[in-house]
Amino acid sequence: MKAHDGMYIDGAWRPAAGPDVIEVVNPADERVIATVPAGTVEDVDAAVRAARAALPGWAATPPAERAARLAALRDGLVARRDEIAETVTAELGSPLKLSQTVHAGVPIAVTGSYAELAATYAFEERTGNSTVFHEPVGVVGAITPWNYPLHQIVAKTAPALAAGCTVVVKPAEDTPLVARLFARAVHEAGIPAGVFNLVTGLGPVAGQALAEHPGVDLLSFTGSTAVGRRIGAIATGMVKKVALELGGKSANVILPGADLARAVNVGVANVMSNSGQTCSAWTRMLVHRDQYDEAVELAAAAAAKYGDRIGPLVNAGQRERVRGYIEKGVAEGARLVAGGPDSPHERGYHVSPTVFADVTPEMTIAQEEIFGPVLSVLRYADEEDALRIANGTVYGLAGAVWAGDEAEAVAFARHMETGQVDINGGRFNPLAPFGGYKQSGVGRELGAHGLTEYLQTKSLQF
Ligand code: NAD
Repeated sequence: MKAHDGMYIDGAWRPAAGPDVIEVVNPADERVIATVPAGTVEDVDAAVRAARAALPGWAATPPAERAARLAALRDGLVARRDEIAETVTAELGSPLKLSQTVHAGVPIAVTGSYAELAATYAFEERTGNSTVFHEPVGVVGAITPWNYPLHQIVAKTAPALAAGCTVVVKPAEDTPLVARLFARAVHEAGIPAGVFNLVTGLGPVAGQALAEHPGVDLLSFTGSTAVGRRIGAIATGMVKKVALELGGKSANVILPGADLARAVNVGVANVMSNSGQTCSAWTRMLVHRDQYDEAVELAAAAAAKYGDRIGPLVNAGQRERVRGYIEKGVAEGARLVAGGPDSPHERGYHVSPTVFADVTPEMTIAQEEIFGPVLSVLRYADEEDALRIANGTVYGLAGAVWAGDEAEAVAFARHMETGQVDINGGRFNPLAPFGGYKQSGVGRELGAHGLTEYLQTKSLQF
């Protein structure tokens, strides 16, 4: 057990203002592996002041130099790849291979993409008799969740730094260790003091203090819709800019001409990956009624194969929440064809890969985000019905369409109310804008669209 006692503020590890700590638990064996300081209003204030003081210098740093620092940061993350993976596995519980490829690999790719964008983006343009400057928004307050702990920090920090903003991050309580590791990499990359600051702490204390701080110009939040709505209201009330990345209940639509086995297998893998703790997971599989029984059989077999290959959920509370949803699915009349509420292990916060058949669109498990390894398979009569079901939730973050013909899949996707759609198994693209329609959020992350979130325009007329 390691007791960490500093927070990264103004380029140094400073002791916390208060005595309280947060215990970090390994979800695979339920042991406390570390403690970190629980930051208070004073710590947040010190971090925001440091970020404000550093803003003029960093905003005036030429984009090519900001790009060079980001490239150095990417190289530092590459050098620490194994340490990142081991840390995420220890605090989140994800299998080491997933930690290496996704939890370490994606943030490295995203940091690299912003090193390139900082160097190439047109921060100045001409239109008619005007010159338009794209200037940094200012001090960014970033509040992040635990499910992809480093990715969520990088998806906000890298574009903010590329834009010339300075940042204060408040990471999730469950996963502060990889955030600390990131701060060390930032320091080693020669990013000036105060440009990046890290305050660990509880959401309702340190998170809320950041949302309410008058020195924050833009609040970027990723997490639950309930918290996002609350702190979004606080920040908007203070006329801060607000970006919200919230929940999802994405539809995986399998049209009759698709390769059914592939669509079902990839669909199940998509839901089970990271133990279902993925906001963009395709948790509703929509299958034509003529292929329904075959799809359910395939899905149940695919889920059963996962057995021990998925890790635990992040904490006991999440496990109870997911079990509650599984029990609710049974109570509302859905048919369990794989998994169930019982834990397959004695220790650790595990839930079995679970598949429900005979799910109807109004059931709780077809409407609410479960955030666990639970797939609902729904039946549709025709394309119109499939579209109505796909669009029939308050969310709109991601989705998939499978068809025999790509043009047919694209035509269907164009009618979906959602921010991303993978066509016939299209791969994740770290340059494509990511974000939600409807109650899945406000704003976009990643790529050039993610960069513009941290810029504001100034027009000079001649
Ligand atoms: P959460 O909303 O409880 O916590 C997210 C962050 O907000 C944490 O850092 C937490 O400390 C902080 N927080 C909590 N209460 C706060 C408050 N009152 N004021 C300020 N900050 C506060 O969510 P979670 O349980 O950590 O994460 C799971 C949820 O996040 C899921 O619903 C999931 O869909 C969503 N999520 C969305 C995306 C996306 O990109 N759209 C990505 C990951 C997770």
